[in-house]
Amino acid sequence: MSKLTTDLIHHPYVPPAGFAAPQPGVFKASTVIFPNVAAMHARDWKNKNGYTYGLHGTPTTFMLEERIAALEGGKQCILVPSGLAAIANVSMALLKSGDEVLIPDNAYGPSKALADGELKNWGISHQLYDPMKPDDLRSRIGPKTRLVWLEAPGSVTMEFVPLAQLAAVCRERGVTSALDNTWGAGLAFNGFDLGRGARRASGGGADIVVQALTKYPSGGGDVLMGSIVTRDDALHLQLKLTHMRLGWGVGGNDAEAVLRALPSLELRYRAQDAAARSLAAWLELRPEIAQLLHPAFESSPGHAHWRELCGGDGKGDGVAAGGAAAGLFSVVFDPRFGAAQVDAFCDALKLFKLGYSWGGPVSLVVPYDVPSMRSARLATWPHKGVLVRFSLGLEAVEDLRADLEQALAALR
Ligand SMILES: *Cc1c(COP(=O)(O)O)cnc(C)c1O
Repeated sequence: MSKLTTDLIHHPYVPPAGFAAPQPGVFKASTVIFPNVAAMHARDWKNKNGYTYGLHGTPTTFMLEERIAALEGGKQCILVPSGLAAIANVSMALLKSGDEVLIPDNAYGPSKALADGELKNWGISHQLYDPMKPDDLRSRIGPKTRLVWLEAPGSVTMEFVPLAQLAAVCRERGVTSALDNTWGAGLAFNGFDLGRGARRASGGGADIVVQALTKYPSGGGDVLMGSIVTRDDALHLQLKLTHMRLGWGVGGNDAEAVLRALPSLELRYRAQDAAARSLAAWLELRPEIAQLLHPAFESSPGHAHWRELCGGDGKGDGVAAGGAAAGLFSVVFDPRFGAAQVDAFCDALKLFKLGYSWGGPVSLVVPYDVPSMRSARLATWPHKGVLVRFSLGLEAVEDLRADLEQALAALR
């Protein structure tokens, strides 16, 4: 290389300090440079008072961590490359061979697959519990139980579980609880304080709150990221040590994308909630639909639990006066329509795209075979028809309703 390249790499110009803009800058690094060897030896990655290596944080990831901790009502946050990595990080930090973890039967599917695959291979057993029955959870907590997962509402089937009571059972038995708060997004309720009302202190909730930032906080359908939030320094350090040993860093550009989306999080959540409720109310009245599954509707299982935790009383509960819910719901088709017909309905949709995940600008639809997703022992699924889940994007509700209407015509 010529001297020119050296000069380009070690250019002496330093821009003036004090630059200010609405959004923070993006810092990207693997290597972090130290002023001298003493500083190199003195710096500790554990307490965020300096930088050691890109994997252990940059100003951009530190900033996002603080904002997500605030969003969840917690104190410390760890960022990981996906929502599923957050679940895995928690399990790997807290469980060892011989331990047992309890998972709700209606949990996010890949969380159960992790327990049935890697955790089982490492000598960690798991049991599924019926999350609608706190007594069922209580009866399954034994001397080997080290961790209980919580999630509300149930994945795909949308029944709203008695979350505060389940967390209370964990506290009563002295078992660490971890909540997957992706649906609530830190807005519908406070995972650390599960008393009535979003921000009201109840003296209890989950010990750990994880979220797939992939969904609402990112809001674009273009970032994969997860968060692990705690309120306890020792628990945070335990999770952080595992995080460090696993090497699960996140990229600066992805962290910046989430930082950019956070100011509109509440607006988007409210808009997608309102759109979902509008379409759910319309679909519930259609003759093709046997059952609506949306926790804000009285006809849905667990509605009373949703009302208790997220329902509005006009005093700031949830994000909206009518309570808070994500822009997500499912319907069960009348059993006279077989799987092939319901597939044809999904294929006929034009604005609703076929795809997993949610929280982005594009409305999505997925048909599910529920009986294959639930354990036979706990299955109380009463429906014969096919379930279809909708997640609302940001399109005009009238356009989405017209799309549903034309696709329903494909059923006949
Ligand atoms: C999407 C999702 C996850 C996983 O998030 P990824 O970033 O896709 O790995 C975990 N839990 C719930 C409830 C989710 O919806």
